[in-house]
Amino acid sequence: MSTVEQQLDDLKAEITSELPSDISVSSVKYEGPELVVYTRDPKKFARQGDLIRRLASKLRKRITVRPDPSVLSHPEEAREEITNVVPDEAGVTDLDFHADTGEVVIEAEKPGMVIGRHGSTLRDITKNVGWTPEVVRTPPIESSTVSNVRSFLKQERDERRDILEKVGRQIHREEMSDDEYVRITTLGCCREVGRAAFILSTPETRILIDCGDKPGAEGEVPYLHAPEALGAGPQNIDAVVLTHAHLDHSALIPLLFKYGYDGPIYCTEPTRDLMGLLTLDYLDVAAKEGRTPPYESEQVREAIKHCIPLEYGNVTDIAPDVKLTFHNAGHILGSAVSHFHIGDGLYNVCFSGDIHYEDTRLFNGAVNDFPRVETLVLESTYGGRNDYQTDQKDSEEKLKEVIRDTHERGGKILIPAFAVGRSQEIMLVIEEAMRNGDIPSMPVHLDGMIWEATAIHTTYPEYLRDDLRDRIFHEDENPFLAEEFNHIDGGEEERQDVADGGPAIILSTSGMVTGGPIMSWLGHIGPDPDSTLVFVGYQAQGTLGRRIQTGWDEIPTSEVGPANGNNGRGTLSLNLDVETVDGFSGHADRAGLENFVKTMNPRPEKVLCVHGDERSTQDLSSALYHDYNMRTFAPKNLETFRFL
Ligand SMILES: [Zn+2]
Repeated sequence: MSTVEQQLDDLKAEITSELPSDISVSSVKYEGPELVVYTRDPKKFARQGDLIRRLASKLRKRITVRPDPSVLSHPEEAREEITNVVPDEAGVTDLDFHADTGEVVIEAEKPGMVIGRHGSTLRDITKNVGWTPEVVRTPPIESSTVSNVRSFLKQERDERRDILEKVGRQIHREEMSDDEYVRITTLGCCREVGRAAFILSTPETRILIDCGDKPGAEGEVPYLHAPEALGAGPQNIDAVVLTHAHLDHSALIPLLFKYGYDGPIYCTEPTRDLMGLLTLDYLDVAAKEGRTPPYESEQVREAIKHCIPLEYGNVTDIAPDVKLTFHNAGHILGSAVSHFHIGDGLYNVCFSGDIHYEDTRLFNGAVNDFPRVETLVLESTYGGRNDYQTDQKDSEEKLKEVIRDTHERGGKILIPAFAVGRSQEIMLVIEEAMRNGDIPSMPVHLDGMIWEATAIHTTYPEYLRDDLRDRIFHEDENPFLAEEFNHIDGGEEERQDVADGGPAIILSTSGMVTGGPIMSWLGHIGPDPDSTLVFVGYQAQGTLGRRIQTGWDEIPTSEVGPANGNNGRGTLSLNLDVETVDGFSGHADRAGLENFVKTMNPRPEKVLCVHGDERSTQDLSSALYHDYNMRTFAPKNLETFRFL
């Protein structure tokens, strides 16, 4: 008998001894990090109040109880009962019964009302019907990404359960080594921005943290073939942890599956969905630019299938000797500071991922409070001596002023923006300004992936800033549903209508004017001297955005398409005003990074400054050393640090 088998037998005996004699346990299984207990008496189980919680804390495991398939009531009866138990205001939109596991997935507009106080309504459901309910939110704005991911996972349910069982056995395997060490190997994003990837290793376990591309340098991928990583074969890696969905952290995750990796990816639920959206778009862009992408959409599906979503604050076993906890990072939807507890009190490492330290309109500031941390791996994008950003209040005032002036002239405001994060931040500024009468009300058109990304944000309000979350819970206050917002889904014809119409604000991808519908908007609006182009995000060297920002006012019409009757030859004159409003960054600036470390509890002994250019990482590293007397490093790629 294998050790995992033995372990499960022992657990079954222990659980049985803890339960009242009239509650039976038919089997006990691992599914990923969870322990699943099957019982023939689910209703009695549910009547025992906090029995599950007591078991979980006694066994120090995450526990789910499911009915043995032999005792399930008929789905039609169960459906009726559930409809009786759940209040109408919950807005149940779908009930999906899975007889193989005894689970019923309840999709509702107000999941909180299906859950009830401290889970009381959920318990009532089980008490009455025996099925184990699982609740998901109906997106308040329809999202094709969310519905595609959900229906894909439903379709792949059997295979997914096999994956989870296998991962469960991996996590709970017996530790083989008596040795003790903790090492970090840098595979990318050291003294550069892009291709984030690290290996965290112990004698027992190797974990890959992030696996991104390098924007503008497609060939430069992380050093995945280093001996610490896939050099020793795809099975060398036990788990992948994804801090957030930006492509410089996620783009090459699907590539791992092409290389034969078939283990888990730990990330938050919104990170999973956004990764799906962004990596599929990454393939699309590559195809349009005539490049051969490194993998295909099949691998994106594999990646999604292998995702194990974790919520902020849940301590989770991901290997025999490693526990992972995600915390809000304040950077983009679902972004996570990742805390690793190694061994039983042996060592603690924290990877910041990308962070924003202060609150923004969208997110609470990054969490920097932990039970223990010895080493911090810290992003340094704006770690340079002079990397201070404009105060967000001042930026917002400037943006509103530009909008007011342009509106007065009867022009349009064209804002190139990244679909995820920046766009929603700008939408919130505009919505509030219109509501308060700071700027005149006018249509706000959203083009490209912005609408879809916004829909994903509203599906996961728990991940947003407290007051924003509360507003989304109250449908009539959901700022993203303001009547001014319009999704451009009618293509070129609709754009022409907008161009021919009165004052309006247009938010469109791509954020650096390197393709996408913004090109067409430039064709429509570029020649209009009453309109304004406003840059709200960083424009990288070599992009059309940067060239326009620095004074280019003639662009080849071949770039913008045959709008405005031009024949696709020659040049288009940009007569509109060009303004730059910075200060809407999703990254902490130099002060924010220093404050993150200064107020960190407990303060780490060592800091690795990564994810920034050479100057930024070295500036930040030496400043932290001088100010806080900690050991700091600005590693290069392919270095290994031993911490114990
Ligand atoms: Zn990022």
